[in-house]
Amino acid sequence: MNYFIPVLVLGAVLGFAAYWYIKFKFLLPVESRLKAYEKAFSGFMVFSKEILEHTYIPDSLEHYGDITNYYLIKLHKLFPDSSMLVFEKEEAGWKLINYLKNFKVEPKLMSSCKWAALDRGASGGEIIRLDSITGADTASELLSVFDIKSAIICPFMPSAPAGNCGRLMVFGARNSLDFELAEPHLRFIACQLNSIFKIEGKVFALKKETDRLKAELNAVVRELDMAGSRLIQRAKERKALYEVVTKVTGSEKDAQLGCSAILNIVAKIVEADVVACLLFDEASGELVVSPGSYGITDAERMLYSIPVSNNASSSVRTFLTRKSFMSGDAQKDPDVITAYAKLWNIHSLMLVPISKGKRVIGVLRVGSLKTNYFTQDNLEFLTVIADELAIIIEMVTLYDNISRKADELAQLNRLKDEFLSTVSHELKTPLTTIKGFVSVILSGEVGPLNEQQLNFLNITDQSVNRLTHLISNLLDISRLNSKVEMESQPLALGELIKTSVANMALKARENGVALVSSVDSALPVVHGDPRWITQVIDNLILNAIKYAGKGSNVAVTGRNKGTAAVIGVEDNGPGIPEAEQKLVFEKFYRGKTGTIQPGTGLGLAISKSVIEKHGGKIWLESKPGQGARFFFALPADKRGSDEGAGKVIGGQ
Ligand code: ADP
Repeated sequence: MNYFIPVLVLGAVLGFAAYWYIKFKFLLPVESRLKAYEKAFSGFMVFSKEILEHTYIPDSLEHYGDITNYYLIKLHKLFPDSSMLVFEKEEAGWKLINYLKNFKVEPKLMSSCKWAALDRGASGGEIIRLDSITGADTASELLSVFDIKSAIICPFMPSAPAGNCGRLMVFGARNSLDFELAEPHLRFIACQLNSIFKIEGKVFALKKETDRLKAELNAVVRELDMAGSRLIQRAKERKALYEVVTKVTGSEKDAQLGCSAILNIVAKIVEADVVACLLFDEASGELVVSPGSYGITDAERMLYSIPVSNNASSSVRTFLTRKSFMSGDAQKDPDVITAYAKLWNIHSLMLVPISKGKRVIGVLRVGSLKTNYFTQDNLEFLTVIADELAIIIEMVTLYDNISRKADELAQLNRLKDEFLSTVSHELKTPLTTIKGFVSVILSGEVGPLNEQQLNFLNITDQSVNRLTHLISNLLDISRLNSKVEMESQPLALGELIKTSVANMALKARENGVALVSSVDSALPVVHGDPRWITQVIDNLILNAIKYAGKGSNVAVTGRNKGTAAVIGVEDNGPGIPEAEQKLVFEKFYRGKTGTIQPGTGLGLAISKSVIEKHGGKIWLESKPGQGARFFFALPADKRGSDEGAGKVIGGQ
């Protein structure tokens, strides 16, 4: 019993001692390691969370280096005593591309390093531990260069060939390194960087492709823009030209104007200071400046004319070779005659041939006071204009020729009229004398005539009559041409017809023609010259009697057509063939029927002129074999018809 207690005490002491021994020997270290692991784990969690949160895909390889640095800095915060190095594989070995902290001597960014440990790390793709203290794997040179005792080599960024690594992280410490703690961090970083690299490659490719497509698209858009604005510009130019051309072709008188308008438009569009048309003058063999040029005075225009034999002239060369020419500074260009460039004070110069079909007719010369001012686009535009210009120039030339011819003809016509008038007047007096004496002799007042004498004198009398008739017709035509003043008085048309028919009755009888008249009871009031209108009616009746022939009927009518009075002379003679119907109103025209009868071919021309001078119209209707029907219409006087249309003028 006495031993029981001491044994119990001893047992308790031993148990206590054993507890503490076990606690100190085993539990406490395990506990502290557990705590350390717990700490490390939570540190790792924070670290990995931060890394994940700050992960991004860099858009270039340089930025890939930045993100690596960022991770290493984070790692360094967790392992403040560590040193970090980043190597990149190059052909000749390894190149140190970055490092972080705690080197006694700052390492140079060295290249061509040949350390087997690095090669091993790269080829295995796995983490390697180096430790000069524990001797786990020694790479003494590598460790000593960077003055570290232990390190982890961690490959990342895999590259071809498969399994090889392009970059390595060397995570070192001056003392023994807690490999267990550091490794997961490095693995995590490497894994992260590898994933980024893999995605990055695709992103790069995508980005590159996107950039390329963008550039292509931009180029196309730019091209389209340019083409669009060029088209708009062209459309505007075309429209302007079209307007000018329409204006020009609308009226011949504007052709000259149109030419100068085109040169003005050209000047505005290409912003030129001088635009001139040099046209080839066949007579002088020179290129001369046409009128209507832009930016030069008439005096300056006159000074510019170059013989086409002068090959030194750019204008002549353009004319002869049909090739456009452009100079940035004509005053210094050996291909241009400087004197001419100076004459108009131009520097930039464009020359374009003006061709009409296969024929070159001149050169378009466009200049600017500024140097290097015109573009290829301007030159193209001029080429188009030059074609349009050629058409207009042709028109101007034609118009000039026609108007010159017309002037000449008008002049000749005036001379002819004057001549006819003078001659007629001069002939009239002696003819009147002859006619007077012949009549006296024929009357027997100066002694008896034998049959032959009587016969001869009758022929003479008839010839004198014809000549008198011709002269009186010529004088009428001459008067009508020289814008004779017509009287304008209310005409008693019915009365005029009646008188004419009465005067012609004898003639009709002599020719065996039945002459009748029929006039509406109320003819509209018309104004005119009774002498001239009577002459027209007489002439139409005389023609009908003459050409309808013996046994025919002639009817003279007067009709009220409301707005006009229409007088007709209708016969049932041979009529007038269709081909002649328009011609019979021409001066001196005598139809087939006309040749069998004496006449001058002036009667209908005079009638037409008289009626038109009265504001009326004359025409004929005829079918061969069915007679001829001549009509003329005189417009009713508005005042008269308002006041009393239908009033009989002159009665029946
Ligand atoms: P002229 O009678 O002096 O020849 P005109 O000018 O009066 O000149 O007539 C021109 C021509 O018209 C005539 O030569 C004739 O051929 C034709 N002509 C005129 N009137 C008639 C008619 N009533 N019937 C047929 N032919 C006619």
